[in-house]
Formats: sequence, C-alpha cells, structure tokens
Amino acid sequence: MAIASIPLNQPDTAKRPRRVTVLGSTGSVGCSTLDLIRRSVPGTYEIVALTAQTNAVALAAQAIEFGAKVAVIGDEAKRAELDNALSGTGIEVAAGREALLEAATRPADWVMAAIVGTAGLAPTLNAVRQGAHVALANKECLVSAGHVFMGEVEASGATLLPVDSEHNAIFQVLEKDRLDCVDKIILTASGGPFLQKSIEDMRWATPAQAVAHPQWSMGAKISVDSATLMNKGLEVIEAYHLFPVGLDKLDVVIHPQSIIHSMVAYKDGSVLAQLGSPDMRTPIGYALAWPNRMETPSEKLDLAKIGQLTFETPDLERFPALGLAREALRLGGIAPAVINAANEIAVAEFLAGNMGFLEISTCVSEVLEAEMAGGKTSAPQNLEEVLELDKIARQKAREWVQSHTF
Ligand code: NAD
Ligand code: MG
Repeated sequence: MAIASIPLNQPDTAKRPRRVTVLGSTGSVGCSTLDLIRRSVPGTYEIVALTAQTNAVALAAQAIEFGAKVAVIGDEAKRAELDNALSGTGIEVAAGREALLEAATRPADWVMAAIVGTAGLAPTLNAVRQGAHVALANKECLVSAGHVFMGEVEASGATLLPVDSEHNAIFQVLEKDRLDCVDKIILTASGGPFLQKSIEDMRWATPAQAVAHPQWSMGAKISVDSATLMNKGLEVIEAYHLFPVGLDKLDVVIHPQSIIHSMVAYKDGSVLAQLGSPDMRTPIGYALAWPNRMETPSEKLDLAKIGQLTFETPDLERFPALGLAREALRLGGIAPAVINAANEIAVAEFLAGNMGFLEISTCVSEVLEAEMAGGKTSAPQNLEEVLELDKIARQKAREWVQSHTF
C-alpha cells in the first residue's frame, strides 16, 4: 500500500527550517495552511514557493509576510500587478502555467497541494516526483488520475499525507498493515446546505444558497460539490485509491454535525473514529506535523455542549451525484476522469448562473453515458492521456450546457 509502506523520512528540522511550498496559497486550504505557519515558532518553516491563479494582491501580501523565495501567478495577465507589488522585496516573481509547474519542482520538504480541480494534477505530480512529503487537499488528482497518480507516488518514494478531513481521519485510525481486518471504511458527510430540502426546492437553488455550507468554510467549487453530494462521491473515489480495501467496503453515512470525520470498522466489531471541530486546520496541522502533532487554533471539542451526534442514510434520489460517482468507480476506465471533468464544468456553469442546480448531476450523468458509449473507455495510462481525456470531457460538458435551455 503506497501510502503506508513509506518510511518515516522526516527531514532533520532540528538543523534547518522545514522548506514548505503551498500550491494554491490564496485559497481556503492555502490560507489555513499559512495560518498554522504564521502561528508557529519563527524559524520552524521556510517558504519556498507560493502560487495562485488570479489574486495577485493576496499572493503578494502572503509572499511578503512569509518571506517566500518565489511567488507564482498562474494568470499571465496579472504578472505586472504582482511585479509591482513585490518590486524591491527581493522575492522572485514568475507567471504562467510553465512557471507554476516549475515552482512545484523546487526542492521542498513539504508541499501543500491545494489548487482546486484538475489544474492541480500536473503541479502536484511534480511535487510528488521530487519525493517530498505531499499534503494532498486536491482530491480531483486522485479522481481523474488515481492509478497514474498512485503509481508516481510509489515510484518516487514521496509521502502522501491526506488532508481532506475524511481521509485524514481514516489515515489517523486505519491500521494500514491490517487491511484484511477492515470490515468497512465509513466516510461521513454533513449532507450540505440542502440536506432537508426537497427536489423542488433544489431546482431553484441559487449559487449563493449552494455555497452557504452549514459546517465548513471552503472554496466555491467544493462547496457546490458538497451541496450536490458529488463531493462525497469524489471522496469515495479518493478513498478507493488511498486505502485499497475495495469499493464494496467503502460506505457513506450522513452526519450533519461534522464532528466525526470518518470511521474504520474492523471485523471484530470495533469501530475507530476521529473526531474534532469542523476546522480544516486540524487535518492540515496533522499533515504539517506528521508523524508528530502540533497545537492548532481549532476549537477544542466539547461533546457535552454538542449534545447529540446523529446519522442517516444518504438519499440517492435527491442526491444522485453520490450514486453517479460510485457507478463511475465501478465502471472504471475513463469514467472517474470523465465525471470529474464534466462536474468541474457543470459547477462552473452553475456558479456563473448559466444552469440550474439539479442540472449539474444531469449534465455529468449524460456526458458519462455518452463517453462510455463511444470510443476508447480504457483507463488513461499517463498524465498526457489523463489531460487529453479531461479536455474532451470538459468540451462535451460545455456542449451539453450550450445545447440545453434553462
Ligand atoms: P479555493 O477555490 O479556495 O482555492 C483554490 C486555490 O487554487 C487558489 O489559491 C487559486 O488561486 C488556485 N487556483 C485555482 N485555479 C487554478 C488554476 N487553474 N491553476 C492554478 N491555480 C489555481 O479552493 P479550496 O477550497 O481551498 O480547495 C482546494 C482543494 O482542496 C480542492 O481540490 C478541494 O476539493 C480540496 N479540499 C478543500 C477543503 C476546504 O475546506 N476548502 C477541504 C477538503 C478538500
Ligand atoms: Mg472532505
């Protein structure tokens, strides 16, 4: 098992600061990561590269505050803005996709992969190839390129540290050398903002309502995915690659309080769970300090105050995206990459006001069906094949949106 068989090759931080790169530093996970570093003892970490796509102002402020060696903006049109903001600071400025890919190859001990979407795949792979400790927030990497990605992890000797709260929880409680003793891995899902809504209510849901998550504060894409439950579907695929117990042993239970972040049930009837306040700084801190633990500002859990933890079975009729993702995993081949790409487009179109909330799943489902019906359906074998497949599925999803009136 790639994730467990890697030795605890912690860098010797007693002698020098730990070199850290944050890919997607201006996003929700990126900012939480830097917040933990901000609170750490000065000299513990040294920031190599910070990257963002468009927000040059926020990136420049971070680069100055943390003394980054290089700040990379993906959108080349924002280069001048970044140049101006960093002039005279001695911080190297770079722009464009190639620069982002290059930044991910710069020697670092620990890289946070927090770019959203398939855009994060190639940079994360570059970090993996340098054998770093890679804290993986970007689940789309594993959904679109699971086998290719895990193959690279195995080959490079990189250490993959799951940051997605559910996978981080499983990572904490799974006896990785005893997978034969696992009865089930149970991922918890908050159920998102529409847990109590009818299909008719969801039909008219606005982007603002969809991103208003009851428990977690996150970027827009993952928030919409949480509202459709596609997020949990993507997480089942993510878990499938990280913890190879097989799809039949991966369950999902709705747990609206988001206190239990996931569980592992063993064949003797024991169930081990990881609990904590819904604050990403706990799983990020776990990955940052691993195999040690660090203080985080996450609110300490007061179970008596919370009072009740409740659970229910997911409703696949109101939330078809969860079933769709499981089906894609069962189909294998191109299917997971296709649903991932189609979903990214569908969510973006929904956020742009171009289609309704329920159509997100319909679009993904119909693109998947069409792609599985025609042409090559065998799994991509390398990064280029994944990206080509991703491009085609995105195009098909765009065409789907254009050919429907809402
Ligand atoms: P976000 O939208 O807040 O931030 C995304 C970051 O990626 C930003 O820094 C942005 O500049 C950068 N980015 C966006 N498009 C890019 C592109 N094309 N090229 C390069 N950089 C680009 O997202 P987030 O909520 O921080 O989520 C990041 C990843 O972590 C996602 O894959 C998400 O599924 C995963 N994740 C997030 C959370 C959470 O609590 N936010 C929890 C679990 C997993
Ligand atoms: Mg999650």
